[in-house]
Amino acid sequence: MMSRRRLDSRSCPPGLFGEIQTPIRTEPLDSLFEMTSELGRGKFAVVKKCVEKATGKEFAAKFLRKRRRGRDCRAEIVHEMAVLEAARNNPRVVNLHAAFETDHDIVLLLEYAAGGEIFDHCVSDEPLSERQITRLIRQMLEGVHLLHQSSVVHLDLKPQNILLTSLCPLGDIKLVDFGLARRLGTMGELREILGTPEYVAPEILNYEPITTATDLWSVGVIAYMLVVGESPFLGEDKQETFLNVSQVSVDYCKEAFSQVSELAVDFIRQLLVKSPEDRPSAAECMTHPWLWQLGPDSDPPTPGPRGERSVGKWALPPENCEDKENFLDSPYGKRVRLEEGGGPAL
Ligand code: ADP
Ligand code: MG
Repeated sequence: MMSRRRLDSRSCPPGLFGEIQTPIRTEPLDSLFEMTSELGRGKFAVVKKCVEKATGKEFAAKFLRKRRRGRDCRAEIVHEMAVLEAARNNPRVVNLHAAFETDHDIVLLLEYAAGGEIFDHCVSDEPLSERQITRLIRQMLEGVHLLHQSSVVHLDLKPQNILLTSLCPLGDIKLVDFGLARRLGTMGELREILGTPEYVAPEILNYEPITTATDLWSVGVIAYMLVVGESPFLGEDKQETFLNVSQVSVDYCKEAFSQVSELAVDFIRQLLVKSPEDRPSAAECMTHPWLWQLGPDSDPPTPGPRGERSVGKWALPPENCEDKENFLDSPYGKRVRLEEGGGPAL
């Protein structure tokens, strides 16, 4: 069913994001950058750490194959560049520095996120504290909120695509991998089957309309993974994973939740709901008391008492929370001025 219904990626023309500004240069990459270690790889991309010879500055070079399965995919790569350009003012999105073309690849020179993937913290024996987790989730929501203000949906939010600027001390969030990102609203309804089953929302699997709420499901999955240390819907095989996602099969009573605060459970519970309209927006999520209970600069947390009553709704931010309109001016990070309904022009 998945492959029959999959839309050809050409059905989303890169023109949706307009012309790209970054020139695609053809001079030899090796003369300007020295490639060092491999940082990661996906199906059609390899990412390498590199140093700009002229400045000594570090970058991440993402080599994207131009031909995939016998088809020219240049348009998809240009699309990814256009999304990165559109998100240039978003401090939680990795910056696109330059682009080069070689015989087989287009190479995106990206801001280097030295702290690696938050995935490593989801599976680590030394899990992050809830205070560290809530700071990262606030930053992730800030990035997602800014994308959504520009009607951009990421559609591939997962712990492997959320990086950190540094590891020790734990740095700030940088979102990467905009290959599946789409702009909503310009071409009528968007329905596509894409993403990684473990992290995608039920509406994707059911071929129902995609909205900004689709990304919020993934935020719920990531929050779950950070606090519990395992993937909520992962089954023995793809079919089982699909079933778990579409039935929203989550057991909040299991042992793994015994150390998790009631407010954290409440946050996750409200995102992992089947109906997209019932999920809070990124802005609404930012007012959830879990994200602010410890304050941006407070001491390390003590685990929340299991008997503590859940707030049940998000409407009232705690006292130390900024008001909703200005929440991006929050004290934990950089000041970001948001225009009403604005964001960067695409
Ligand atoms: P793909 O589209 O193949 O999934 P990504 O853009 O997600 O490619 O990159 C693959 C991996 O490379 C990421 O999961 C991450 O580990 C690493 N990576 C990507 N971009 C950067 C970056 N800017 N800085 C550091 N590591 C990166
Ligand atoms: Mg990726």
